[in-house]
Amino acid sequence: EPTVLSQKQHGIDLQLVSPNAIRVTQTLQEAGFKAFIVGGAVRDLLLSVKPKDFDVATNATPEEIKQLFRRAFIIGRRFQIVHVMFGQELIEVTTFRGSSADAAPKDEHGRVLRDNTFGEQHEDAVRRDFTINAMYYDPATQTVLDYHGGIADIRAKTLRIIGAPEARYREDPVRMLRVVRFAAKLKFSIDAATSAPIPVMAPLINNVPAARVFDEMLKLLMSGHALACLQQLRKEGLHHGLLPLLDVVLEQPLGEKFVTLALANTDARIKQGKPVSPGFLFASMLWHQVLEKWRAYQAAGEYPIPALHLAADDVLNAQTEKLALQRKIASDMRDIWAMQPRFERRTGKAPYKLLEHLRLRAGYDFLLLRCASGEIDAELGDWWTAFMEADSSGREALLARKP
Ligand code: ATP
Ligand code: MG
Repeated sequence: EPTVLSQKQHGIDLQLVSPNAIRVTQTLQEAGFKAFIVGGAVRDLLLSVKPKDFDVATNATPEEIKQLFRRAFIIGRRFQIVHVMFGQELIEVTTFRGSSADAAPKDEHGRVLRDNTFGEQHEDAVRRDFTINAMYYDPATQTVLDYHGGIADIRAKTLRIIGAPEARYREDPVRMLRVVRFAAKLKFSIDAATSAPIPVMAPLINNVPAARVFDEMLKLLMSGHALACLQQLRKEGLHHGLLPLLDVVLEQPLGEKFVTLALANTDARIKQGKPVSPGFLFASMLWHQVLEKWRAYQAAGEYPIPALHLAADDVLNAQTEKLALQRKIASDMRDIWAMQPRFERRTGKAPYKLLEHLRLRAGYDFLLLRCASGEIDAELGDWWTAFMEADSSGREALLARKP
């Protein structure tokens, strides 16, 4: 039985709730169904944070939901969900899941492959990942239903997985990434029993389809708290295996400095509402792996430019398998890397040609990161800053200056 909290007890400000989410729960309730705002939105509301999106849970089936709304689409294979659209806003509506994880089809490591049986609300609550993500809010009565002590954990700023941690990670290893992301984002600590199995179980993430790991990685990296996530991972001793991508990088002192700067930079941009390109982000994460291979190819007798391309090929091929890097992202990464040696040619027409490059800005930002991390002399970055800002006579003067 859930604990039921009144508005006075939970203190949620109805002003922070999307009118469209209220419309959805109301429509479902008027049709005779149960309907609640659920998951991350309730958690954020309880923390007085305006949720960025709203999920609704109901006992109506996807077909029944679809019939109640003009613009509703059933999507998803792993989980069938209904997208209800209101202009730009999307409300995700899911039918309560059953608790039969034991009966669900699994892979040879115990990972749940499909999970489409419907169930009761209390069963739905058990299937959710963390106590703070398993609360239900009814805007009509302004009550919160708390099945797993989520309110207490919100107050204690604790992330606690529901059920037996090992079994829950085995069912879905992505939960290990999620716990770290939420801890960093919410500045919560991770309950000891919840974090204990992670170092041992982290390798299970390798069996999760690459596209899902990529989505969760991107969420983590673009959360605005990427650096905090990384530090959290290290603090918990979880960085090995959990993010295969980071393992290599963090082993090298310069690599760590570089990634730290890149993530701090990204976090700052996100907090300022500036766009961040996944290509730039992943190009940064993998740069020191590229550097290492670039040097190796040169040591083996390749010329610098072909050596760089070979290194980029190696790194991208390896990651495409592990991370399902989308082609557009991979090509952005290659552009950024390939531009780097071109910044070193500071004579004749070469710098002018580089000014016309479509991704000059990204390449230049990347160059500045390399300078700031101590990989290359800051003089090169300063020269380019001056060159990009100068008028034509200023540029001629810079070109005449022997570095
Ligand atoms: P965010 O603010 O990042 O969107 P969120 O909690 O809303 O956080 P979602 O990925 O949008 O995260 O998921 C919505 C809800 O679905 C979660 O709050 C949780 O209850 C449930 N959920 C999501 N992923 C899982 C998972 N891997 N295992 C169990 N439950 C999950
Ligand atoms: Mg969400």
